[in-house]
Amino acid sequence: MISATVWGENVHERTSDVVAEVYPDGMHTVIADALNEDPNIKARTATLDQPEHGLTDEVLDQTDVLTWWGHAAHGDVSDEIVARVHKRVLEGMGLIALHSAHYSKIFKRLMGTSCSLCWREAGEKERLWVCQPSHPITQGIDRYFEIEHSEMYGEPFGIPTPDEQLFVSWYAGGEVFRSGATWTRGNGKVFYFSAGHETYPIFFQEEVRLVLRNAVRWAAPTTPRWIDDAPNVPPDQAPEPITISGRTIHKPGDEGFK
Ligand code: ZN
Repeated sequence: MISATVWGENVHERTSDVVAEVYPDGMHTVIADALNEDPNIKARTATLDQPEHGLTDEVLDQTDVLTWWGHAAHGDVSDEIVARVHKRVLEGMGLIALHSAHYSKIFKRLMGTSCSLCWREAGEKERLWVCQPSHPITQGIDRYFEIEHSEMYGEPFGIPTPDEQLFVSWYAGGEVFRSGATWTRGNGKVFYFSAGHETYPIFFQEEVRLVLRNAVRWAAPTTPRWIDDAPNVPPDQAPEPITISGRTIHKPGDEGFK
């Protein structure tokens, strides 16, 4: 069983009548419902307004894959929680960044780049082309699928070159965008998927829900948790006998020198 936590900012849903009409119970509940359609995934939700944003040590400890949707309140996410999530990704927790999460603190920290992009809100059609038909995340999707009304996200997208490019989007207005891509950070797998503008019912669309389930299964850790403790190996414990020669900074008795 894969344990997923669906993190939702849940701000637009309460401050915008347009968004509340599409997602009366919040986007996070709709995303969690999509994941729970897979009997091998158990998804729970967490939101910004909860203590520790719902991402306590205990919750993260039990989370295999975290999905993240944020937009209006990236700056309200505590740096301490971001550091906690970042550490868990390096240990092996999967992270799926959705739509405007390209500008979230956690995604920018994992990428190390601006993550900026061009955009336009005109309700135009988006065609998502599959770049890697054999990848686990694109299974069940034909050569492409379309989102009838979408927000345009366009190149240049300020990301490091992805490990795998899975989707490229074309928009009715003419732009293209790297809309689905993967990276690894430490032991953790990261997937960015641009679908999910808040004023359209995109997370109710079957193809999008399928990609989300595929992505959670792909991003779940498959190896033991990795703890990066970088120990000092003193000369007398080297695999082969050595004598200390030349000048050294560290002396026996120093912190870290055993
Ligand atoms: Zn949007």
